[in-house]
Amino acid sequence: MDLSADAGALPWLLADAGARLLTGTMTDRLRRCANHDACVLVFLDTSRNRARRWCSMEMCGNRSKVAAHESRARQRRAQGARATE
Ligand SMILES: [Zn+2]
Repeated sequence: MDLSADAGALPWLLADAGARLLTGTMTDRLRRCANHDACVLVFLDTSRNRARRWCSMEMCGNRSKVAAHESRARQRRAQGARATE
């Protein structure tokens, strides 16, 4: 099919691909991004061990790591402050 000549078929092709994805063998690999607070994306986990957690390591993965790091640093500061009291 020549899509440049018949672009009207494109939405149908996408809908068909989406339906195949949701009814096919890949459904057990669909994941919701672990960054629930800021991200609503669903991704297809194609990693070998199926341990992927984020839609994108560059976006949500890094943000979550930074947030966890800051939270640990805050805790350390709080404990340090109590220790010197
Ligand atoms: Zn995400």
